[in-house]
Amino acid sequence: MSQLEIKDLHVSIDGKEILQGVNLVVKQGEIHAIMGPNGTGKSTLAYTLMGHPNYTVTKGEVIFKDQNILELEADERSRLGMFLAFQYPVAIPGVTVANFLRSAINARRRAVNKEDKGMPIPEFRKLLKEKMDLLKMDNAFAGRYLNDGFSGGEKKRAEILQMATLRPEIAILDETDSGLDIDALRVVADGVNALTGPELGVLVITHYQRLLNYIKPHFVHVMMGGRIVESGGPDLALSLEEHGYDWIREKEKTEEAA
Ligand code: ADP
Ligand code: MG
Repeated sequence: MSQLEIKDLHVSIDGKEILQGVNLVVKQGEIHAIMGPNGTGKSTLAYTLMGHPNYTVTKGEVIFKDQNILELEADERSRLGMFLAFQYPVAIPGVTVANFLRSAINARRRAVNKEDKGMPIPEFRKLLKEKMDLLKMDNAFAGRYLNDGFSGGEKKRAEILQMATLRPEIAILDETDSGLDIDALRVVADGVNALTGPELGVLVITHYQRLLNYIKPHFVHVMMGGRIVESGGPDLALSLEEHGYDWIREKEKTEEAA
């Protein structure tokens, strides 16, 4: 069983410390959600896990399969079995969704074995059909040009389909509120719900509390001031919806004073 283990992670942007000691373990088969007010470091965590060059790790490590993935390139992280959404955000003229997915699968196979001839087309078609059926996607979607005039929901559909066909062990999704209309929100939630199971661990970072009305995480974490200050089950999301974040701030203060 694989797990992603974030240990005392400190991250700076332009010399300013944003993450101040994040600890979190996400195991295969578990869905974790991180929520929290704006500006608390959620995207910083996502970008750091994705290997974005602007984010400097000053302390700590992120262990996956006995390796500190912070020392690996993004494609090496992917090869190990991590899926990092937004890895391929660009429109690629003349490349269909299906072609794109097939080259992503083949790149992964070739990275493992240089001699690999790629996934045979019938096998790929079968995999694609199986995953599109599972995700209740219209088969015509695979023939569309990637990101060419895609709506927010269609971009998410391509991303979730990529996740489904690459079959990662741990997936990290940063759902920023920009561009997350209700359609996109449903695509992400339905996708995660359809793909969830003992093989897949998901860390969904949400800027939009409503996402958790559709995804049922096993664990909910609250990030504030660059640290995870509260963890709990799905009930935690509900009490945040009802009471906001102030009670956690109060609790933090009381704990600091004690
Ligand atoms: P969240 O995703 O929780 O809203 P972010 O991780 O985006 O928070 O931002 C955390 C903090 O880092 C904020 O105080 C923000 O102003 C700061 N920050 C984010 N990006 C940059 C940047 N490129 N340069 C300097 N500060 C940044
Ligand atoms: Mg953000």
